[in-house]
Amino acid sequence: MHCPFCGKQDTKVIDSRLITEGHQVRRRRECPECKERFTTFEIAELVMPRVIKSDGRREPFNEDKITCGLQRALQKRPVSIEQIEQLMVRIKSRIRETQEREVPSDLIGNLIMEALLEVDKVAYVRFASVYQSFESIREFGEIIAKLGDK
Ligand SMILES: [Zn+2]
Repeated sequence: MHCPFCGKQDTKVIDSRLITEGHQVRRRRECPECKERFTTFEIAELVMPRVIKSDGRREPFNEDKITCGLQRALQKRPVSIEQIEQLMVRIKSRIRETQEREVPSDLIGNLIMEALLEVDKVAYVRFASVYQSFESIREFGEIIAKLGDK
């Protein structure tokens, strides 16, 4: 790993630890030349299935889209970036567990809803209203009434 400060080709790992339930490694590195320290993240790259959209078109799995959806739903809610990352890890492993080469986008939407429901009900209702294209206040009432039972 090159030093991002001075470009030296060799940097030293000074600390290494597992994060987000062991799916990621965080390393602290130090440059022996300029003594700057920096952090790297290492994650196993696993092939994700392709996504079947509702109109039948296929598209590559796009992690950023899910992260954006989560962040939009969780805007200004008391949920940390780390929690969002953990949700992301969980959603991805659930998708992989299907062992399918292609998964419907609905499945991903439902996993996102499930994950949000666990951390923040307001975010859950926000996401659901966009995802299921609520058109009336009645639909909000219905989903909130259902939440009351949980
Ligand atoms: Zn350096």
